[in-house]
Amino acid sequence: MAHDKASTSAAPPASNFLRGIIERDLEAGTWSQRHFGGTPGDGAHHLAGPPDPAKIRTRFPPEPNGYLHVGHAKSICLNFGLARDFGGVCHLRFDDTNPEKEEQEYVDAIKEAVTWLGFDWNVGGTSHLYYASDYFDFMYRAAEALVGAGLAYVDEQTADEMRVTRGDFTTPGTNSPFRDRTVQENLARFRQMRDGELPDGAAVLRAKIDMASPNINLRDPTMYRIKRATHHNTGDRWCIYPMYAYAHPIEDALENITHSICTLEFEDQRPWYDWLLDKLADMGLLARPLPRQHEFGRLNLSYVVTSKRKLRALVEEGIVSGWDDPRMPTLFGMRRRGYTPASIRAMADGTGASKTNIWLDYAVLDQCLRADLEGLAPRAMAVLDPVPLQLINWAEVFGSADHIEACHAPAHPQRPELGQRNFGLGPQVWIERDDFAEVPAKGFFRLFPGNKVRLKYGMVVECTGCEKDAAGTVTRVLARVVPDTKSGTPGADAVKVKGTITWVGVHDALPATVVLYDRLFTEPQPDAGGRDFRDVLNPKSKQVVTAYLEPGLADTPAERHFQFERHGYFIADRKEHRPSQPVFNRITALKDSWSA
Ligand code: ATP
Ligand code: MG
Repeated sequence: MAHDKASTSAAPPASNFLRGIIERDLEAGTWSQRHFGGTPGDGAHHLAGPPDPAKIRTRFPPEPNGYLHVGHAKSICLNFGLARDFGGVCHLRFDDTNPEKEEQEYVDAIKEAVTWLGFDWNVGGTSHLYYASDYFDFMYRAAEALVGAGLAYVDEQTADEMRVTRGDFTTPGTNSPFRDRTVQENLARFRQMRDGELPDGAAVLRAKIDMASPNINLRDPTMYRIKRATHHNTGDRWCIYPMYAYAHPIEDALENITHSICTLEFEDQRPWYDWLLDKLADMGLLARPLPRQHEFGRLNLSYVVTSKRKLRALVEEGIVSGWDDPRMPTLFGMRRRGYTPASIRAMADGTGASKTNIWLDYAVLDQCLRADLEGLAPRAMAVLDPVPLQLINWAEVFGSADHIEACHAPAHPQRPELGQRNFGLGPQVWIERDDFAEVPAKGFFRLFPGNKVRLKYGMVVECTGCEKDAAGTVTRVLARVVPDTKSGTPGADAVKVKGTITWVGVHDALPATVVLYDRLFTEPQPDAGGRDFRDVLNPKSKQVVTAYLEPGLADTPAERHFQFERHGYFIADRKEHRPSQPVFNRITALKDSWSA
């Protein structure tokens, strides 16, 4: 990650070198002669099928060993997006070749997250959902074929010996004493590995390439290891498992993938990827043209950690409430927080694809969310830090202390079709504590003794003072309502005011729990330079308040978005919200409060 690049804007059009590669491939007809057998399979299977209806094939290949995070969203949007834009198909493939860490729970969660993001692996009635473990038989057959061709051997050096004979960046490796076994010996030994006749770790199968290669990945890479472990799909059928770098190219080839897109750290693996597929095609096991690997830079988001180990620590140490805590960068966390699929896609697409790892400012995600919700989310008034405002001349003006003045507001200022909000103005309303100042600072235009403000969509009031408790805390603000100033009535603007404040009537307010979420860390790169991310936790990343909302928000279903006027964007929490006991999460404020 020597060449990480900072990027604080997602300004389109983002350059995406992968699009250029695909355009050139399509123009050159590189992939146009391929056949597809309808399901994954070897070369003969595909050649027997009709021409591949998909112009390109990409894949998103998660390992089902954890929950997807914002970095995976980047990869999903890229792979599914390229397939969509170029008449192709994107496969969802569970890369489940490692028996130990994989679970059905993660498989289900990953499917749910990809669907939620807005992508579909069902194309024209065919499901392109695949499991790499379904290819174990072919992988084994391919390994035997390589052994048979003298291109692979069973190595019984110890792990330590292998480390030493591999060499390093400056020293070439040296050949294993087992490298020159005969084909028959290798085949017999490999079958013993498969049949459970050797203990775990006693031997590995290696490709026979070049122990002196300047690329360490070509120094006889390991293909198979012995590991007695129960696999979630194949159970105890196998006690040898393929290495990722051997399995992955084969998975791509069996699925007829054209563009195998991965992150930069796999660049040095590409020669091994190509060597392997080329040999298997030479032997007639795979059809040409073969898939090609292309690497792009990772997406990192500032103020976020995405390493699975660190995310797990946050959950297990109780720093957050779970994998779907609204402060987590997992897709489940982001969903619960209120980020929309469209906002995440916009952020991902806005960063394009490049050959360097990207650091994207978290503020870009918030901008994408605001851009998405501005035109969609209904508006509502909410008072998050309430103090009562008493209109002391109410009975005198309206003839009764119980009078309620009906008020209206558009659900959305630009979308009349969303209808009207209705609420009442009475003698007591809730206002924000910081909308009142006993002694106003310069430039403060809201409530202070002697000043007039408009209660938004209501009437103009003139502040007369306040009441305080023994500690000096304001317990009630006092004002007089100014007659004939109701919003929307003739002459309402005759009284000029400099400030307008939001409010909710005490008589019809809906009490709610509102959780004010903010960034989990105070530093843009929480784990930079080996720092312990626990040292830079933001103590204010979660603040729970009891708020008052407009009465129209009663019976809101979970996951409904709103813009609370002046406060930002909020969502009814997916887990804890009940229509009768509302819980709203703040997604983001209306403006970025973190910019320097
Ligand atoms: P991590 O260790 O960060 O959780 P991973 O690569 O181990 O990620 P996989 O399940 O193997 O997790 O990832 C599936 C796909 O998502 C891979 O193709 C991987 O390259 C891609 N991916 C993971 N993180 C990022 C990221 N930050 N930016 C872009 N792509 C990513
Ligand atoms: Mg991985």
